[in-house]
Parts: sequence; C-alpha cells; structure tokens
Amino acid sequence: MTPEEKVGQMLQLDARDDLEDHVLRRQAGSILHASPERIRAAHELTDRTRLRIPLLVAEDCIHGHSFFEGATIFPTQLGMAATWDPGLVERVARVTAVEVSATGIHWTFSPVLCIARDLRWGRVNETFGEDPHLIGELASAAVRGYQGDGLSDPTAILAAAKHFAGYSETQGGRDASEADLSRRKLRAWHLPPFERVAREGCRTFMLGYQTIDGVPITVNDWLLSDVLRGEWGYTGTLVTDWDNVGRMVWEQKVQPDLTAAATAAVRAGNDMVMTTPGFFEGALAAIEEGRLTSADLDDAVRRILTLKFELGLFEDRRRPAPERIEAAVGAAAHAELNLEVARRSLVLLRNDGTLPLPAGGNAPARRIAVVGPLADDAQAQLGDWAGNSGQAGWIPDGHPRHLISTVLDGLRERVPDGWSVTYTRGAEILELAPDPEGDTFPDGQPRPPVVTPAPVDEAQLAEAVAAARDADYVVAVVGDRIELIGEGRSTATLDLLGGQNALLEAVAATGTPLIVVLLASKPQVLPPVVDDAAALVWAANPGMRGGRALAELLLGEIEPSGRLPVSFARHVGQQPTYYNQVRGQHGDRYADLTQRPAFAFGEGLSYTTIEYDGLHVAEPRVGPGGVVRAAVTLRNTGSRPALETVQAYVSDLVTSVSWADQELKAFRQVTLVPGEERVVDLEVPAADCTIVDAAGKRVVEAGDFELRVGRSSQQEDQLTARFTVTA
Ligand code: BGC
Repeated sequence: MTPEEKVGQMLQLDARDDLEDHVLRRQAGSILHASPERIRAAHELTDRTRLRIPLLVAEDCIHGHSFFEGATIFPTQLGMAATWDPGLVERVARVTAVEVSATGIHWTFSPVLCIARDLRWGRVNETFGEDPHLIGELASAAVRGYQGDGLSDPTAILAAAKHFAGYSETQGGRDASEADLSRRKLRAWHLPPFERVAREGCRTFMLGYQTIDGVPITVNDWLLSDVLRGEWGYTGTLVTDWDNVGRMVWEQKVQPDLTAAATAAVRAGNDMVMTTPGFFEGALAAIEEGRLTSADLDDAVRRILTLKFELGLFEDRRRPAPERIEAAVGAAAHAELNLEVARRSLVLLRNDGTLPLPAGGNAPARRIAVVGPLADDAQAQLGDWAGNSGQAGWIPDGHPRHLISTVLDGLRERVPDGWSVTYTRGAEILELAPDPEGDTFPDGQPRPPVVTPAPVDEAQLAEAVAAARDADYVVAVVGDRIELIGEGRSTATLDLLGGQNALLEAVAATGTPLIVVLLASKPQVLPPVVDDAAALVWAANPGMRGGRALAELLLGEIEPSGRLPVSFARHVGQQPTYYNQVRGQHGDRYADLTQRPAFAFGEGLSYTTIEYDGLHVAEPRVGPGGVVRAAVTLRNTGSRPALETVQAYVSDLVTSVSWADQELKAFRQVTLVPGEERVVDLEVPAADCTIVDAAGKRVVEAGDFELRVGRSSQQEDQLTARFTVTA
C-alpha cells in the first residue's frame, strides 16, 4: 500500500459531504452518517480505487437503528437501564443488529459506558446511569447482542464502547469540558465498565473528546498504551470521536497544525480518525517531513483491514439488502420486544393508591383528562439519536407517526369501553431563537438555536383546568424535548421549562387526582406540587411503544417494575447526586436544603408491597478468593404480583484511603405472586470488594464489611449483615 492508501484507510469521513472526494482522492477506509443511497454510491466509488478495499460503514444506532425510517426505536439507554435486565438489553442489541446489518451498516457507535455524574450534562440519556457495576453488566450484554456469534455472522455488527474515558466528568455539566480527573478516580469509577467490555471482546473503542490534566484523550499515552493496550491487553480497534484530531488544533489549541496533530495521533496509537479530512494531508506531510514513516501507520491499517477481512467485506460488501430490510426492519416481533422493554423501563416513583386505575370488573366508567405538551408528541418521545433528532438529515420528519404510540394514543386504545379520554396541551415548553454568535461553530458544525422557556399561556391553562375539573383523573405528561438534550445541549437547570410547572399547579388545584407522567430524557427537578400528586411515573424517552406501555401501567394491565439507574435531585444546586459518593464532609446537609436526593438510585415502586426479612450471610469469614454467600427472604404482602429487583450493596467499613460508603455489587430479579415467600440467594465474590488504593491499585483490603440488601440504595430500604475478608 502507498502512504496515501494507508492514511486513507485510517480515515472515517462524513458521507453527507463530497463522497467522490472522500473515496477517490482521500481513499477513506470508512464512512459514517450514510443513507442507503449514499452507502451504495460509496461502494461503487471504491470499485474505482486501485486496491478496491471495501468501506466500513458506521452509524450511531444507539437505541435501535436511529436514522432508518421505520426501524424499531427502543427506549434510550437510560430507559433500558431502568429495566436492570441484562438479558433484555442483549435482546434489544441483537434485534438492533439484525435491522442494522440488513441496511448495509457494519458498525454501531454503541454502547455508551460513560457514568452519569452531573445531571445537567446533555448526554445523561445516552448512559446506563450512575453505577459502574450496573453499567458493566448492561454494556457487556449490549456488546454480546450487537456482535452476535462473531463477525462472520451476517447479522453481526461491530460494537463501540464509548467514550473512553471520563468524558462524563464534566465541569458544571458542560459538554466535553476539561475533566478534572485523577488517575485514581478514573480507575475507581470510569474505567471498570470499559475494562469489562474490553475483556469480553468489544471490537472497537471510541475515544472521548475531553482533556484530562491538559492532555486530550486522543494522545493520552497512559490511558491508551499503558492501561488499554498494556494492562488490559486490548487488541481491538480505536476510533477517535468527531474531529478529535482537528480539535487539538482549533479548539483545544494544543497542536500548532494538522501535521503535528496527525503525528501525535498516530504516535498515540489511534487507528481510525473520525471526520478530520485534513488528517490525510497532515499525515502525508508528516511522512514527507520525516516526522512519521509509512511503517508507523501499519499497526492501525492492519487492525482496520483485519476487521474488514473478518466481516468478509472483501467477498461481500454487505450492501443494503432489500429483502432483508423488508423482513427485518420494524418487524412485528421487534415491535413486540420494544413494547416489553418499554413496559419494563417505566419507574413508578410515587403512588397514593390511585394507581392502578380501577379498570377491571364492574367498575364505573371514568373520565380521564390528558394534559401536557408531551402527551401527544410522537417524535419528542423518542429522544435523542432518533429520526429527526438532528444528526442526520435524510428523515427530516422523523419516524412514521403510525409506528409511534404516544400516551394519548395508548390511553385511547386501552381504556375500557365507556371511559372517556380528553386532551388539551395546557402549556408549551420552549421557544427557539437563532444563536447571536452565528449559525456555525469554527469547524463549520451548526450551532443549536438558543432555547428560552415558553411563557405561561393563560388561555391554554384555563382549558386544561376546565378539562381537569370535568374529569375523574388528570394525566399530566411533562418533561423535556430534543432541544434540551444531547451534545452541546447541557442544561443550566433541571427544571421543567416553560408553562409546565404552572400547568401542574393549576390542574392540581382542581382537586382531581393528578397522575404525573414525566417523559424526560434525564432526571428533572419537579415542583413541590408533585409531592402531593396522586402518582408519579418516570419514562425516560420510552421509544416507539412507550405510550402504549404507559397506558397499560396506569390501567393496571402490567405491573410497574423499573428501578432508577440514576438519582433524581430536588434542586439543581445539589449536583452531583449520585449515590456512591466518597465519604467525608462536615455535616450532611446544606444550610438551606437537605442533601438527600428526591429519589435515589435503585428506587421504584410496585403495585404491591414486598417485605425483606432475615438477611443471612452463610460464612461471615471468607478469604480474598472466596465468595460471600447470602440469603434474604422476600414476601409479597400485597394483592398484586411483582417483579422485584433485589439489590446487594457492599460497604467497606474502614479503608486505607477514602472510598464510597457503599457500592452495588450484585442484583437479582425475582417474581412473586401475592402471598408468595421466597428465599433469594445472592453471591458477592470477595475479589469484587475492592477499593483503589493511594497508589492507584485496585485491591481487596482485609477487614470488616457490611452487606446491605434491599430494594434501593437508601439505607432505610436495606437490611444489613457483617462479613470479614481475611488476609
Ligand atoms: C459523538 C459520538 C458519536 C459521533 C458520531 C460525536 O459527536 O460524541 O458519540 O458516535 O459523534 O456521530
């Protein structure tokens, strides 16, 4: 291969731009953001190159095949995380791979392994929440699902663990800001999920945008060489994030020009360079000037070609396959799975007994007033990385409306005969204005418009109040919208914007029982009136079947079983609110507010009550290679069945350096019919009872531990038992 051909293989370019230039001149090895037509066109262009090396086609299919019209769009990652069910997440990823692979895409930029820290960050919705153990379990399941039986399987797609690492440790929630992260902190919280998927064979890793201690991840030798390639022995392929190499020049200003930036990126071991077209000229100039040799590119090119060979692309480009698309994309069985995940993703946070609504038997007909700007907004319900969320332009109207069930659709479809369902919007969320700084950023990417909260509209409000007065129940569907979600769209507050709080207050004041459905990409701060609402359900962008699932939940056709993968704040000033914070501070509250979250990690109600009793550790002394075996008795003391998530946390009572008071180490899901009693066994390997010591080593420190088992991370929900790990 010539130097040009090698540098080209390392390039992944945006298929929405000039494809001929990408493929014929820069000889790109990969494209992303390609519609099926552009994929076909790009393959034809590669046939005109000297070596006819096939392209790797990549896309962000992160909760379904995001930008393929009519594909199955599942709940977002955060919604999936609320199921706490790795098996379900694996099935979602498998189905996604079946749909995606049919459409000519070989590689998805999923799963996200960033841990949710500051909730203001716009990308919290893309995470599996705030706990490294839960993230590790769910992410490995997703990787297994995507990669299937191995790359020769025609339905397998490459997974990408992203964004390696520490991207979510923002300052003030600002996207891709400098991350104030010590190596110990990285090893303690951010790296474990990545290590797990690296060892489980996730074929690619995407590198984060941010700098740590001044060094962009793209050139972070310690992270890439010492840890990833060295300690973990990772042999997969690395892809930068969007223009990471260019950003070192124009944004972070740590490289004088693209020649220097390309040299540094190659030396640091990057394999594929996403959307820095000038890497081509930069790397060639570096070779010309003797800063790099052509051989310096060989490892990267070898890794990229190996993926192409393993996928069999030299024999079969895996182009979009019309018959497979017809059979797979949006298939009925996939929609069924989507409904199952949506049901499981819903988290019931408050219920005074109003739910489930009395829909069975001879109950009299009821009138439901549905209000709220999100009750019937099909595209907003899908959240980021879906349809018209902004990253791809070829389905400007989003996914077909008839495939999406909104809360209003769901209730109209599911209420018993004779019931009535009315709808009035009641409030707007936001207004948009062009950014006074201009339409684009320095790199030519569009600047999002500026969001201002919509004013309260008295006429709209009056209509909603009248509807509420005239009803037996009000279902208010409130939350956030795509303009408040995603990259470069962190929020300063976590409040419900626009007229939404006024709407909740006004309909609550009618005295009609108020059921709040929070359709929000991430935890929001709810107004005090919600404390007295009859019920509160959180649906984190629940996907195409979300409305149907919500209706089933409200009407008692299914049991609520979701549990929070992320804590909810009472006030934005409480950030961060994640449960596994390091011990030690003066006092435990703010002068003007409690530090307790509104709802804690792991919380979620059922329509029944489950009692926990008799936590017992079989052998309270184990060696460092032993396993702590415990049993707890659960009893369903209510009148409805339940799927209970039994959570086991470990507290290391004295540590050589400060550490989190408790960490999730295991969980199990069990079903219990009314009256049923069950002993649930739990196992925690002593080798998992680790801390990261002052030298940055993950170690088990001999001594006393507390096992805390219960329905959430809150101590009042937990039973405790002691055990000792011996030296
Ligand atoms: C995001 C990545 C994404 C990539 C390609 C970047 O801006 O940070 O998560 O995979 O774009 O769309």
